[in-house]
Amino acid sequence: MADRAVTMEKLVALCKARGIIFPGSEIYGGMGNTWDYGPVGVEIKNNIKRAWWKRFVSESDNSYGVDAAILMNSRVWEASGHTTSFSDPKMDCKKCKTRHRADNLIEAYSKGAVNPDTMSNEEMEKYIEEHHINCPNCGNFDWTNIRTFNLMFETSRGVTDESQNKIYLRPETAQGEFVNFLNVQRTARAKVPFGIAQVGKAFRNEITPGNFIFRTIEFEQMEHQWFCKEGTDEAFYNEYKEKAMSFLVDLGFDKEHLRFHDHDKLAHYARAACDIQYLYPMGWQELNGIHNRTDYDLSRHQEFSGKTLTYVDPMNGERYIPYVIEYSIGADRLMLAVLSEAYDEEKLENGEVRNVMHFHPAIAAYKAAILPLQKNLAPKAKEFLVRLKKLFSVTYDEAGSIGKRYRRQDEIGTPYCITVDFDTLEDGTMTVRDRDTMEQQRLTAEQIIAFLTEKCAF
Ligand code: ATP
Repeated sequence: MADRAVTMEKLVALCKARGIIFPGSEIYGGMGNTWDYGPVGVEIKNNIKRAWWKRFVSESDNSYGVDAAILMNSRVWEASGHTTSFSDPKMDCKKCKTRHRADNLIEAYSKGAVNPDTMSNEEMEKYIEEHHINCPNCGNFDWTNIRTFNLMFETSRGVTDESQNKIYLRPETAQGEFVNFLNVQRTARAKVPFGIAQVGKAFRNEITPGNFIFRTIEFEQMEHQWFCKEGTDEAFYNEYKEKAMSFLVDLGFDKEHLRFHDHDKLAHYARAACDIQYLYPMGWQELNGIHNRTDYDLSRHQEFSGKTLTYVDPMNGERYIPYVIEYSIGADRLMLAVLSEAYDEEKLENGEVRNVMHFHPAIAAYKAAILPLQKNLAPKAKEFLVRLKKLFSVTYDEAGSIGKRYRRQDEIGTPYCITVDFDTLEDGTMTVRDRDTMEQQRLTAEQIIAFLTEKCAF
């Protein structure tokens, strides 16, 4: 990390100052673990989701999207196992009354050398006791035993108290894909192997040590389930590991900042599981997961719903419940990785420091900023702005010196600044400045459109 300028404090401050991300409900003193995306941030996040969808749905020969309801029949969560076993091991500090995850305490203390996923609650308590791990908030050593709380947010439906019925805000999007397996297969006339993808909100009542948008109680997931025949699952699992990694590398991530982390402890139904970890400002952490979930999910839903979820192979009439290779990534957690990776402080020849976000142009909020050199060139600049807005997300700035305006765009990662000057009135050309190299070239309107089309593709 020594060579990277990024810290969490700098990112949070930049995001707030530049309209990327604000603290949730800020004027009421905030609301823990919630964040609101601002005008620049919402564009970046939408671009991340678009790039993911393009790669895993639009460009795939056999993957289809759904947008399932957040509120699902409660039986779904019984079938998935969430009502009984979706919990974290938590301990309260009796002195300062803060609540902590025992597994996180061990992970932080051992600097990742010990994997708490393989430990029982008793083993974790013993480790914390033996190593005298203090409360990270107040420094005391006075813990309750580990207790487990379900992470799902509960709510109720119905208009009268009598008819109240407990339902849950979904803690993951995956179940919306599983319950629609046959609907999608039939209507898309899909043949196994095929995929179902979804991007949407999920909710978990998690406690976090406050790593910005890394872990929040409301977040967006981008999930892709690949349904395949048993026997082909291992090859597809490896294929999805590679696809997930290539997606990140193509977004501009340094390979040195990414690594696979295979799970030692697998869920009883899983055949294989791994994460891709990213070197965040606070250290290596899970960015996404890839799991070989066998036929567990569809079998459970078949059992609990009483409806057959068997696939019939049209070639030979063979009937079977497909295996699932799940690839799941949080849009907000990826956003934090994208922000961390893009952040740079560059020392210029004149001694000044330039803050610049090196986003892939496809991810940048604005592909270009139109800047009239002087205010009286504004009508000409706006003429081009109107034309460009129909094709790309672009912004406009006429306030302050051109140098200051360049800096503002660098800070939000706009890849190209297009300056309209007096020569534009003569020959129609404009200056196009590259954010990363700061080099400039003169291009006509048509050339700029072709240039941006090429550079901003993903
Ligand atoms: P973790 O171990 O970090 O809690 P997990 O293994 O529970 O994550 P999954 O249930 O596999 O995560 O969820 C898939 C992905 O969803 C994660 O890799 C992460 O990118 C994202 N994600 C999960 N929980 C959160 C959260 N509370 N806030 C933001 N993103 C999350």
